[in-house]
Amino acid sequence: MMSRLLFTSLFVGALALAGGCAKSEPPNTSDGADSPASTAADADSQHASAAMPESGVDYHSLANTGDYRVQHLDLDLTVDFERKVLEGEAVLQVERLTDENPPLVLDTRDLEIEQVKAGQGGDMAPVKFRLGEKDSHLGTPLEIQLPPEATSVSIAYRTSPGASGVQWLEPRQTAGKKHPFLFTQAQPTHARSFVPLQDSPQVRITYKATIRTPKALRAVMSANNDPKAEKDGVYEFEMPQPIPSYLIALAVGDLEFKPMGERTGVYAEKVLLDAAAKEFEDTESMLEATEKVYGPYRWDRYDLLILPPSFPFGGMENPRLSFITPTVIAGDKSLVALIAHELAHSWSGNLVTNASWRDLWLNEGFTTYLTNRIMQLIYGDERYRMEMALGYDDLQADLADRPDKDEIMAIDLRGRDPDEAFSNIPYEKGSLFLYELEQKVGRENFDRFLLNYFNHFSFQSITTEDFLAYLEKTLLKQYPDKLDAARVRQWIYEPGIPEGAPHPMSDAFSKLDPVRQQWLDGKIRAGDIDTQGWTFHQWKYFLDGMPEKLSAEQLRELDAAFGLTESKNNEVAFSWLMIAVRNDYQPAYARLESFLTGIGRNKFVRPLYRAMVETGKKDEAARIFENAKAGYHPLTVKVNSRVIYGDEQG
Ligand SMILES: [Zn+2]
Repeated sequence: MMSRLLFTSLFVGALALAGGCAKSEPPNTSDGADSPASTAADADSQHASAAMPESGVDYHSLANTGDYRVQHLDLDLTVDFERKVLEGEAVLQVERLTDENPPLVLDTRDLEIEQVKAGQGGDMAPVKFRLGEKDSHLGTPLEIQLPPEATSVSIAYRTSPGASGVQWLEPRQTAGKKHPFLFTQAQPTHARSFVPLQDSPQVRITYKATIRTPKALRAVMSANNDPKAEKDGVYEFEMPQPIPSYLIALAVGDLEFKPMGERTGVYAEKVLLDAAAKEFEDTESMLEATEKVYGPYRWDRYDLLILPPSFPFGGMENPRLSFITPTVIAGDKSLVALIAHELAHSWSGNLVTNASWRDLWLNEGFTTYLTNRIMQLIYGDERYRMEMALGYDDLQADLADRPDKDEIMAIDLRGRDPDEAFSNIPYEKGSLFLYELEQKVGRENFDRFLLNYFNHFSFQSITTEDFLAYLEKTLLKQYPDKLDAARVRQWIYEPGIPEGAPHPMSDAFSKLDPVRQQWLDGKIRAGDIDTQGWTFHQWKYFLDGMPEKLSAEQLRELDAAFGLTESKNNEVAFSWLMIAVRNDYQPAYARLESFLTGIGRNKFVRPLYRAMVETGKKDEAARIFENAKAGYHPLTVKVNSRVIYGDEQG
């Protein structure tokens, strides 16, 4: 998903905190990914022990992926806004990996199963099935008795109105206010709440879908969208490249399309369309620049879908159609690192995919590294350094705050919610690790390595140990005098960051430190500070570096000089509101309430609620939350009720 970082962030901020669902026991029997399982095993042998999770095992799926592999999905779903239900049929093509005939076990969550048929090709007959016991994190296994030769399974089902991966919005929650809106968010383990399937990132499938909607609305998916498709209430899709289930995505709304370039365009509600197309007009250049360094874009078109403000993340890298929060439309392209991030996932994540959520850093660390590189290619060195420096600060903040075991890139998630993996560790520590490799072997050499890596593992799901084995055969072998296998393992398997790790810095930021200090010392007035040309990065750095406590007079002075309470940039507003909450600055409270009510992006919402609770404003937090929650995504509701009311209600 998105990244935690600043802009990029999606998930992290978002989810991370967010809380999704999965959890616990060692469910799965899946063997390695479609990847070199043997090398994975070898590489892992040094690390494997009862105390370590097994490489390649997905602890967050109940599916028996070692017995069967789903290859293809045909979906036919009707979107019922009144009942808040998706209803229809999923047909799975299944490869059998065993001569025995065990039941096929699929992942589901809160699905109502009407009928299951199985057979060969289109020749199917009803078969026995049963839903197992519900696990609060993993969902409910669907066990299907397959006839010995059956390779096709058809499941007639409907979703529940509270499906964890589907958000239904009332017209008033949209930008246009006239029509309802629906979007799905499958990562990490929510696809199972709207399709019965093997919901594991190591199972890749192709899919086709027919989506039936009210006539006024348009459906789009992570597939071959046709901007010219007539709005007739029936939409056909095909995703011919094999993708993991967490990349299946659907949205339905009063959507229009505007092209931005030959291969890029925007889908959005009409009132947002022009602003979005303008804000993100560099997307085509980003795509071309990325291809030049990391190899061809393999997904045909790259479009953006702008979601309503309740979208809980910054963005989600759904293939061919990234889902994007409208909170990054700032009017000055200052937050478009998010677009670079989602685009970069077309290589790191979507093309080469983490085999389990333990391996998330392979998705997000590589993507964060690529994001910085893309930003440099398009916007130059200074921006590159500022983005890197902010990421580094985020990482330091997380390292100060997390238990050692969660500072490990290959994180042990057994018995845990996979959302807990989405911290700055996979994103920023992962990126810093790659940056160190780049520094040591030289940028050109490292770029060549990445290009080859993406080709070598394209359309595969791989483990941390697959990566290590590959690194050993390539860079570690080529540059024995520059790289050291023990240090690489320290980065991946140990907490913290190794001594001597790079420390990205920005001159533009260093200049701000003395200015801030002079103001704090009362030597200059806020109004004397030359903020001409400051980007949001500088504002954020300037504000985030303020001491915990400021006086009422200082707050009034800053606000009067810079209009911070009214800032239109959501990142700047957020940094300011955090200061306002910590210091009980009443003049900002109306904005705080409208900010929390108007936006559902967890990266912003959660820290603000948390700061309110920590500074004795729990009642006020609860009052705003109760008003706002009808407009929030289920994940936002879940994670923030934890923050406000404590764990037991999460
Ligand atoms: Zn991401």
